[in-house]
Amino acid sequence: MIVDCHCHAGKGDGMTAPWNTDAPIEPYLRRARKAGIDKTVVFAPFHSNYDEANRQVARIVARFRDRLIGFAFVHATRDAGRIFSMVERARKWGFRGIKCHGFQAMPTRELCEAARAFRMPLLADVVGRAEVVDLLASQFPDVNFIIPHLGSFADDWRAHQRVIDQLVRYPNVYTDTSGVRRFDYIVEAIKRAGPRKVLFGSDGPWLHPGLELHKVRLLGLPPDQEALILGGNILRLLRQVRSEADPKDIRRARRERSSSAGAGVQAIEASSSLPPGTQPEYEL
Ligand SMILES: [Zn+2]
Repeated sequence: MIVDCHCHAGKGDGMTAPWNTDAPIEPYLRRARKAGIDKTVVFAPFHSNYDEANRQVARIVARFRDRLIGFAFVHATRDAGRIFSMVERARKWGFRGIKCHGFQAMPTRELCEAARAFRMPLLADVVGRAEVVDLLASQFPDVNFIIPHLGSFADDWRAHQRVIDQLVRYPNVYTDTSGVRRFDYIVEAIKRAGPRKVLFGSDGPWLHPGLELHKVRLLGLPPDQEALILGGNILRLLRQVRSEADPKDIRRARRERSSSAGAGVQAIEASSSLPPGTQPEYEL
């Protein structure tokens, strides 16, 4: 099964750049089907309110349940104080992971505790600041971090090099291939860290999933290794996700929430009601 682990869906509200304006899923899905991609992980584009943006994603996932897997987008500092509730709610919608973007805020303890509570992978764009991965991976050895774009969407080769080292050193650090232009860094990542640490991702709908998939095919790997990158690895991570958080982890996540939220705690009501048209769970 071919699974794209990185795609955006829904509308943003910024309207100053493609990534905060619109991520139309239909053209992506047409291209992905043609390319032979079976399932796709989707999360919101940049948005000023991720509670709202995640609801939008839940509705989109519900429309294409056989093809889409939702991740909750969280702003690590703006959403401080409500991250656990947001993730818990998203889990009830059937979401299986968390996305955050270092352009807005790097992952905080509160965010990592929420990921740990549900054993969800945390797809964290570190925008070239690969040094933070050392801190995240060692502070939270039981959270799986997916560092997209080999650490930099902007072709920062130093970040690529450092993330490759981190893939080798930390069992809980993974990367995706989306948007990586310097092909030999992907070759090196697989050679040094092994095919279990690299995941196929497209960064659709803005990048063409067929083009990004072709990049992985061009590696010319043995079929079993290619199969891990094209789907086996992300499915293995997603199967570890828990339906309910452990009470011990919930207590820990709550403690972290109260200490990091400061003055601006914005608790959202613990409503688990689904957006219209969504259903709770789907098979992988
Ligand atoms: Zn992206």
